[in-house]
Amino acid sequence: MSAPPPPYPGKGQEAGYPAQPPPPQAYPAQPYGQPAQPYGQPGQPGYPQQQGQTTVVVAQPAVTVVQQFRESPVHTRCPHCQAEVVTATQFETGSFTWIICLVLCIVGCDLGCCFIPFCVDGCKDVTHSCPNCKTVISRYNRM
Ligand SMILES: [Zn+2]
Repeated sequence: MSAPPPPYPGKGQEAGYPAQPPPPQAYPAQPYGQPAQPYGQPGQPGYPQQQGQTTVVVAQPAVTVVQQFRESPVHTRCPHCQAEVVTATQFETGSFTWIICLVLCIVGCDLGCCFIPFCVDGCKDVTHSCPNCKTVISRYNRM
């Protein structure tokens, strides 16, 4: 009259029931590791920009290039008369010129040589002005 010992202790299952069917999984059995998309599609050599899909070109059709007012005349639009002009450059004595002069004096070039920077355009500031209305558009300061 004694029940046979259960095959697994702690579980009063009916003897003879071979095994529990596996519980239904909440997640459908998907194989981990989906076919991972390789970075950089195959078949595209080096430059994916030629496909034109993610190319963000911020080039503006207008002539608004980044203008750098330096020593050479710059083609720009005058903010005063709104004319497309090439700026007229004028070299003016600036603080950089005086510093060069001072340095030359310190190192001993004080027999007139310290005035060389005042004759060298490379030591002067550059003033860009509009040839139309003579308005000073920009000034290139070397300091
Ligand atoms: Zn102007």
